Amino acid sequence: MSDCIFCKIANGEIPSEFLYEDDNVVAFNDLNPQAPVHVLVVPKAHHDNFVDDVPAETLLSMERAVRAVAERTGVAESGFRCIMNTGAAAGQTVMHLHMHVLGGRGLGEGLLPA
Ligand code: 5GP
Ligand code: ZN
Repeated sequence: MSDCIFCKIANGEIPSEFLYEDDNVVAFNDLNPQAPVHVLVVPKAHHDNFVDDVPAETLLSMERAVRAVAERTGVAESGFRCIMNTGAAAGQTVMHLHMHVLGGRGLGEGLLPA
């Protein structure tokens, strides 16, 4: 996926600061944050979305990354929201699997960030 922005970030072609990295995933700040904490957890391998035959070890790494990011950004105790937009109608604009981790402000009780 030579023209995929998240492939380039996750594989170091575009230098970025990572809050977490292991063999399968990286985590970095969203370019256009919607909350004081807005981090993206992104697999190094290209998958279009969450239901694109993602290996179990990658899903496990995503969970580890979320936990590490929540602790490092100080929202582990207060709470945070994980979102994976899947497909254009859901608002997915970058077609490389990513999980948003949002926190640091009240996010309301609804399904979507206020
Ligand atoms: P989606 O709408 O696909 O669920 O989320 C894509 C997210 O990626 C958006 O929140 C957008 O701000 C973020 N984003 C898009 N391009 C870049 C980029 O080049 N760098 C970073 N750090 N975030 C990006
Ligand atoms: Zn990609």
